[in-house]
Amino acid sequence: MRPYILAETNWRDINKHDFELAILPWGATEAHNYHMPYGTDIIEADLISAEAAGIAWEQGAKVIVLPTVPFGVNTGQDDIKLDINMNPSTQAMVLNDIIEVLDRQGIHKLLIVNSHGGNDFKTILRELGLEYPDMFLSTCNWFQSVNKDEHFENPGDHADEMETSLLLHLVPNLVLPLTEAGDGKDKKHKVEGIREGWAWAERKWSEVTADTGVGDPRKATAEKGEKYFVAITNKLGRLFYDIAKIDQNDMYE
Ligand SMILES: [Zn+2]
Repeated sequence: MRPYILAETNWRDINKHDFELAILPWGATEAHNYHMPYGTDIIEADLISAEAAGIAWEQGAKVIVLPTVPFGVNTGQDDIKLDINMNPSTQAMVLNDIIEVLDRQGIHKLLIVNSHGGNDFKTILRELGLEYPDMFLSTCNWFQSVNKDEHFENPGDHADEMETSLLLHLVPNLVLPLTEAGDGKDKKHKVEGIREGWAWAERKWSEVTADTGVGDPRKATAEKGEKYFVAITNKLGRLFYDIAKIDQNDMYE
């Protein structure tokens, strides 16, 4: 039993600790090319948060990892079989309920570990921050914490070489042989501003990619995944520690 994982701990142990920071991993349930599980983002959120929390805990940070929320914003994938969409307005209500508990019980810091590109918690946290002025509300995207180019050859943002390598390291029994994977080729938008990334519109997933992947996964290896996992969990472990230890009344220098 790891004392910093809420789902594993118990009523006897939990009362020994005054937690400084609650960590909420947040995933999505969606197709990941032909070769990876629907729970890919959940598995990543779970295992990255747990490992990073262990690193922070060892250094003396009192963190507690809440169970992973399994559903994300999948509004662009309404025609992909069993991609489960949770609307942003629902996410706001879920967050409100969790923050209400933390605030009432005196755990005044929350960090969301986001594992899915379609989730965007910033505007929700801005709004809830007004309602809960004693709370420090924060979010991070683990997939942006380390420069991917230093670890992987092919770019991508969904079921790509990076995600496939990670899962080959973490849960190899849930990844089909790479000969089963599609090439993850995606079509680019015809509007230049959207292509350049400074303008935005929802991607209609089924029109952008045939295999649901974005990025060629076929150069993925477990070794690449392990190195990357170590790099991101060290980075997140430091973030967990820093947020747990910072004085909420003295955060700027
Ligand atoms: Zn994913």
